[in-house]
Amino acid sequence: MTLSRRHFLASAGLAGGVFLAGASVPALARAPLASAPTVGALRRKVGSIEVTALLDGYIDLKSELFIGLVDAEAGRLAEASFGKPGPRRTPVNAYLVNLGDRLVLIDAGVSDGRGPALGHLPAALQAAGVAPDQVDTLLITHMHPDHINGVLTSAGEALFPHAELVVTATDYAFWHDDANMNQAPDEAKPFFTGARRAAAAYADRLRQVDGEREAVGSIRTVPLPGHTPGHAGFIVESDGDTLFIWGDVVHMATYQFARPDWSIAFDVDSKLAAETRKRTFDRVAADRMLIAGMHLPFPGFGHVARDGQTYRFVPAEWAYEL
Ligand SMILES: [Zn+2]
Repeated sequence: MTLSRRHFLASAGLAGGVFLAGASVPALARAPLASAPTVGALRRKVGSIEVTALLDGYIDLKSELFIGLVDAEAGRLAEASFGKPGPRRTPVNAYLVNLGDRLVLIDAGVSDGRGPALGHLPAALQAAGVAPDQVDTLLITHMHPDHINGVLTSAGEALFPHAELVVTATDYAFWHDDANMNQAPDEAKPFFTGARRAAAAYADRLRQVDGEREAVGSIRTVPLPGHTPGHAGFIVESDGDTLFIWGDVVHMATYQFARPDWSIAFDVDSKLAAETRKRTFDRVAADRMLIAGMHLPFPGFGHVARDGQTYRFVPAEWAYEL
């Protein structure tokens, strides 16, 4: 006997009807909304090295924070990205690089205890199967709170008991200069105290690097001045593959690929930051280099395409090679 499709559908319908008529099934998924991002940890290979993107959380950026922003154009760009009007939400990412003989965490997010939006890096690290005491090196793109505060516990102690802390000498000098701190507006003073507190907790294992040279293992420092004087990116190379983790070249992908001249109020030198952004876009577009960024849509891997005088972020296809 064969069961025709029509016959099958008829019996399925009958069975379904009986089931629905006879049962009152309570919903099982009655769970409160988490109102926070899920743990974010996404791994890919770069040559024979593993890089894991880790999500610390997110920040909402109001349009007033962008220097040079034109409202009408910002609205058009948001609409073209299928975004809502209003503040733009941007993630805070960090990247764990397993060199094989060394675990390097590039940036560390914000610290714990900052409300539901931020401070999830420890959970993401745990999801990636790594305990803080396994991290050998903390490599910091710049000493802003959303990059360096996460090296501390909420009590202000070193979260990574065995890791050296590597910062650029230029950033270290800038944030430790009392004249700079005294000149800074009140709302910027916590940036100085935060940078100093993090550096002090690792004082006995602090290393400073500068210029375009090896920072740790095969990871090379690339100066990207402007956002902060010592702001840097890191190039990871392995078996002919390259990944350029560029820190804060971009704070909001929706705006700044189309308008690299729009800087953010957190820039120490917004004009230089814009020049660095454009130069970096040109370099990675010409070299077809895989990039990742701390404020690019998580996991933040992608490429930059150049369309005449403007640019586009092309998120990387998901990939993992065993
Ligand atoms: Zn940042």
